[in-house]
Amino acid sequence: DIILAVETSCDETSVAVIRGGKHILSNVVSSQIEIHERFGGVVPEIASRKHVESITLIIEQAVKESGLTLKDMSAVAVTQGPGLVGALLVGIVAAKSLAMALDIPLIGTHHIAGHIYANELVHNIEYPCMALVVSGGHTELVLLEREGEFRLIGRTRDDAVGEAYDKVARALHLPYPGGPHIDRLAVGSEETIDLPRAWLEADSYDFSFSGLKSAVLAVINQTRMKGLHLNEAALARGFQESVTEVLVTKALRAVHQYGAKQLLLCGGVAANRGLRAALTERCESDGVPLLIPPNSLCTDNAAMIGAAAQLKLKRKQFSDLDMKADPGFSLESWSVGS
Ligand code: ATP
Ligand code: MG
Ligand code: FE
Repeated sequence: DIILAVETSCDETSVAVIRGGKHILSNVVSSQIEIHERFGGVVPEIASRKHVESITLIIEQAVKESGLTLKDMSAVAVTQGPGLVGALLVGIVAAKSLAMALDIPLIGTHHIAGHIYANELVHNIEYPCMALVVSGGHTELVLLEREGEFRLIGRTRDDAVGEAYDKVARALHLPYPGGPHIDRLAVGSEETIDLPRAWLEADSYDFSFSGLKSAVLAVINQTRMKGLHLNEAALARGFQESVTEVLVTKALRAVHQYGAKQLLLCGGVAANRGLRAALTERCESDGVPLLIPPNSLCTDNAAMIGAAAQLKLKRKQFSDLDMKADPGFSLESWSVGS
């Protein structure tokens, strides 16, 4: 099976060619970060326009780099949601045209299922497993009892982790996206500033990061108002420690409660060095195998969409050609059994 996969849910235009849901023949990612950087975040209208400008070229490049031709494709997969509706539409229109022209099936794919199945491109997922999804828009614990069966057991009640990182970075006047900058400061700091942890109810797998974000902003404002020097690195470290401790503790509690054989870390924040280190240590001491994709497959890319779409191709679960973009697409509803 050869899948041509398209991802345009946010600010990356990406097209990949995947064999058997596991082997990357090509994975071209064109990021718009430089364009959005000066606005301090993604501007939806600009994102859509840039996708329109680059999609055709990126498709050509991905096909060329795969060493195959369009005639070799078995199906076209595309991110159906969640994401920015105008951005999603560009990929969907391109994918539908290809599916129609080549007379092959269309597979509308869930973006977060993609982040999770990025792991299948480099590891072998075993079930039941627990996925900790940490990205710009999501912070979730997802139980997969079987292949392609997604059950949401916890989610953020306010900010996503990546979002909190970006907001804290912005308050420190660091460039967008701020996650990597905070990470660098945190890892390099000897000192730390103690900040609150949001555990919520004792049995809850939900998360909350807005209180922590407010605590960080309060420290910044108070220090500035008093005309004192702000140890930004110590603050970054304190923030990272709070985020990491809550994520690691809840993820491992979920792994044990649900008898998961593996913990999968995924999404853009999976690149975070503090989180990786703490999870690696805790999983080793608990004897839990930890799967993390390489950084290039943690941030948005079409290869992960191809990996997830294989679940549907295998079961011949295809989308109609009148498929719509779904900005609030539910992950559980995309399960292969529903
Ligand atoms: P979603 O997948 O929820 O729709 P998204 O696709 O925009 O959101 P990703 O591309 O998965 O998000 O991840 C981007 C986020 O990851 C940004 O918020 C960015 O700051 C964060 N990020 C990237 N690297 C790091 C890092 N090293 N430490 C912390 N955060 C990071
Ligand atoms: Mg992005
Ligand atoms: Fe993403």
